[in-house]
Amino acid sequence: MISGLFAREMQFDQYRAFQYLEKQVAFGPRVPGTEAHRVCRDWIIDMCQQSADTVLVQTFRAYRPVTKDTVDAYNIIARIRPEQPQRVMLSTHWDTRPFADKDIFYSNKPVPGANDGASGTAVLLEILECLPKFDSDIGIDIIFWDAEDMGIAGNGMYFCQGSEYYAYYPISPIPQIGILIDMIGDQNLEIPIEANSMLYAPELVLEVWDIAHKLGYQNVFPKKIGQEIYDDHIPLNIIAGIPTIDLIDFHYYHQGRNIWHTVHDLPAYCSPYSLKCIGDILLFWLSRK
Ligand SMILES: [Zn+2]
Repeated sequence: MISGLFAREMQFDQYRAFQYLEKQVAFGPRVPGTEAHRVCRDWIIDMCQQSADTVLVQTFRAYRPVTKDTVDAYNIIARIRPEQPQRVMLSTHWDTRPFADKDIFYSNKPVPGANDGASGTAVLLEILECLPKFDSDIGIDIIFWDAEDMGIAGNGMYFCQGSEYYAYYPISPIPQIGILIDMIGDQNLEIPIEANSMLYAPELVLEVWDIAHKLGYQNVFPKKIGQEIYDDHIPLNIIAGIPTIDLIDFHYYHQGRNIWHTVHDLPAYCSPYSLKCIGDILLFWLSRK
């Protein structure tokens, strides 16, 4: 059961969240080095400043393996109660992939990133709006990673550059535990337990899957181990030592056709309900800290 206070005070607005998703796509692909990337960066910072106590931007140079050069990239860190040593982290990546290499015919066009980039960002921006009503002493870091999706498929290198940079240069007080979300806007959302998450933070996996079932989202969160995925939680676990799980639906299809890393990653294949499912679970988790 959800407590009356939780239900009344901490409403996650799925339609407002979906507008945040659409707005990001309307900026254009958020590829580091582009105008759309700069505009979206400033918009996220502005949104964070309206709700967070402190907003920090970690600027770093990201490597582009295709052109073999570097470009400025930005992790955006919104902090609630920045002095509090007891902290949790919620994070997602906000950049989008520079090339649609999973298109049936390889495309040099960038990925619009409605699901892969905008969905997690939309959920965390909406959560930030809910937090001022949130009665708690815990410190919260909400982090938007940059340069997650610039790697070459199959190679595994040069993905997750923002979280890797942070993992080497974390900002204290450092959170003790974290949840990463990625590709959670899919219309047919299904999130099995990501295998690395179970390896690094099994107790948190069980806690989150229990919350999902308690809130009625058991169909979205089957209690089965899924694929092992290299995502932003890997540098956080291995380099920074912050136990972090990844909520990800890696299976992004529409009528049997793959959407992931194609030019078709558009709002039409995403759903406000999926954003709400993740938002409700994260807010409930925070409410128990
Ligand atoms: Zn991606």
